[in-house]
Amino acid sequence: MFEKLIGNNHVKEVLRRMLSSERIPHSLLLAGAEGVGKKQFALEIAKAFVCQNPKNFEACDVCASCRRAGKFEFPKSDKKDDFEKVIFSEHSDIGTVIPYKNSILVDAIRELVTEANFRPYEAKARFFLIDDAEKLNIAKDNAANALLKTLEEPPPTSYIFLISSRPDTLLPTIRSRCQTIRFAPIDKKEIEEFLLGTKKFSPTDAELLARLSNGSIGRALEIDLGKFREGREAMLKVLQSLLLREDRSVLLRTAEEMNDAKNKDNYDASLEILETLIHDVWVVKLGNETQVVNFDILPQIKNLAQNVESKRLASWLSEIEKMRENFQVNINRKIATDALFMQMASGF
Ligand SMILES: [Zn+2]
Repeated sequence: MFEKLIGNNHVKEVLRRMLSSERIPHSLLLAGAEGVGKKQFALEIAKAFVCQNPKNFEACDVCASCRRAGKFEFPKSDKKDDFEKVIFSEHSDIGTVIPYKNSILVDAIRELVTEANFRPYEAKARFFLIDDAEKLNIAKDNAANALLKTLEEPPPTSYIFLISSRPDTLLPTIRSRCQTIRFAPIDKKEIEEFLLGTKKFSPTDAELLARLSNGSIGRALEIDLGKFREGREAMLKVLQSLLLREDRSVLLRTAEEMNDAKNKDNYDASLEILETLIHDVWVVKLGNETQVVNFDILPQIKNLAQNVESKRLASWLSEIEKMRENFQVNINRKIATDALFMQMASGF
């Protein structure tokens, strides 16, 4: 049932219409940001076909077929062999291929094409999901041609759904053979309600995660709030020392900590938090308090806002962006962070 999926009501409408008129495209591209539910929607379409008691053309979610449909056993190891094939769910007419490291392997595609040409085992159609489709690694060989041909003229009882968060990087020859359904970011309120519904989050945490999620349920669920708050505390101190105390030793100490080996993996996250905080201060200066991401520390944000000019915030953000770009050409992060904080401290 699409009912239990979150957000993207326009997609639900389109799919419901397609299902009830029996016009689901055999080659379909589900495109949209990471974590907005593309794969769940794809599975839901497949379930509508394999379900033993569909209701209004949608899966019942209770019959044996529905229950088996979404149960996949994905490889637990890094063994290449395990990715060179179609991974079937407990329902033998629903399979998927997923990338190994950064590409979907040619042998997996070859098997998908072969399987797509078989008649269904138990349902009235077969479904193949190509996850992270932009990682299709098809050179000009037989597998590539076979896939293109299958997408162009799919067997009448097979459906191939490509899932991609970067549809613009798909090969045009693939994209042009699929009908595309676009997914939008999910509304913050809907994410918050979903999180509250899981009963795993306090109201404040659910709201904070929703505001941090950029419209992605997947992202909301991945964020470790404990770690986030720890990083935020450090970045808040940076801004406070710049604007309230003019204490530069905090800046150098923070730059050092950010570049300490044990914090290496959090470096990008710290910069991102710093940017969000600066953005929040800016938003408050513009009088749009409701748009603040870090709403749970609003008093501190407001305090900073009273002590800074918008144009200084703008220049900070562009300094941080400039530094990030420079990281693409291997510069020394420690030196760059020191320089960034000193630059932020100067000039006004
Ligand atoms: Zn069912």
